[in-house]
Amino acid sequence: MRTLKDINLENKKVLIRCDFNVPLKDGEILDDTRIKESLETIKYCLNKNCKIILLSHLGRVKEESDLKKNDLTPVAKRLRELLGQDIKFCQKTRGPELELLINNMKSRDIILVQNTRYEDIVNKKESSNDEELGKYWASLGDVFINDAFGTVHRAHASNVELNALNSLNNNEHPFIVILGGAKVSDKIGVINNLVNKADKILIGGGMAFTFLKAAGLEVGKSLIDEENINFCTDILRKYKDKIILPVDLAVTHEFTNDEKYKTKEVTSLEKNEMGLDIGTNTLNLFKSILHDSKLIFWNGPLGVYEFTQYKKNTDELLKYIIDNNLKTILGGGDIVACASQAGYKDKVYHASTGGGATLEFLEGKKLPGLEAIK
Ligand code: AMP
Repeated sequence: MRTLKDINLENKKVLIRCDFNVPLKDGEILDDTRIKESLETIKYCLNKNCKIILLSHLGRVKEESDLKKNDLTPVAKRLRELLGQDIKFCQKTRGPELELLINNMKSRDIILVQNTRYEDIVNKKESSNDEELGKYWASLGDVFINDAFGTVHRAHASNVELNALNSLNNNEHPFIVILGGAKVSDKIGVINNLVNKADKILIGGGMAFTFLKAAGLEVGKSLIDEENINFCTDILRKYKDKIILPVDLAVTHEFTNDEKYKTKEVTSLEKNEMGLDIGTNTLNLFKSILHDSKLIFWNGPLGVYEFTQYKKNTDELLKYIIDNNLKTILGGGDIVACASQAGYKDKVYHASTGGGATLEFLEGKKLPGLEAIK
């Protein structure tokens, strides 16, 4: 695989595909790990007196109303602070304004281009890998550097990252997978691929409710992925001893941090209630299963970690893993953000922010970006 050090970068105009897909709330960056991780590459290019053009996607842009909430302006601000130098932010993803800015660049200037997914408004151009758009962006620089493991399933991964992920194929048992987060749909491939390799799959987060509903339980107003109930029913039937669902939940009435929650057994949710985290018995059950494990892979938080009340079980389980020195790979932006906020990120065996890419790798798919770089 070709890396930065194989190329003469001196004074070149470099395009760096970064992964600035950071969690944002009301324009505030909740976790800047991904931005910090890009600094090494950017500084390397600064040392080579490059002109640097940064490209990244942020969130999903389907309609006009998605534009404002996925604006990269806060990232530009954070990058200026972290690098201690000015960065020009171009609101346009293509056209004369961007080209003029690039033509006027001097060595060591940095431009951040607005969210590449703004191009998705018309025919999902970015996400669908539009050739003309790809060629256009490529024409803006002399060298293209892919620094976004998170996007390698669309396009470099450091070898470290892959070696760590490869250790998931080492046959270390018990191998326990923890899946949380919101959507079952994103994780179907991983479940299918890992269900035979893993000794147990522990399910928490919003995902758990689709499984609980598939198991015939009342889940009230909890998050449900209707389209995948059948998939869950099927998995539960085939692997009933392998899939471990919550036994209790932190239950409330509205999606807010303001109301005090109750811990309830999974069998006693009412129609007007929703579960926003696992409960204490579930946490203890998960700990007891992880206790003897040789390898853990964890994707997705166990609760709505953006709300302080519903993040503590995720934090506790992370702490348990660290305290017991359990070999763990965290995959995905949200769980890595949790670990980072709690100060555990550098203590786990490996933390990979590339959520989608990690999942696709674990699904056994070839990553096109990696193939291309090879
Ligand atoms: P993902 O991107 O699939 O890893 O999902 C992460 C998101 O799942 C976070 O934003 C969490 O707030 C959300 N999440 C976790 N637990 C729940 C829950 N019980 N109900 C709703 N959303 C949840």
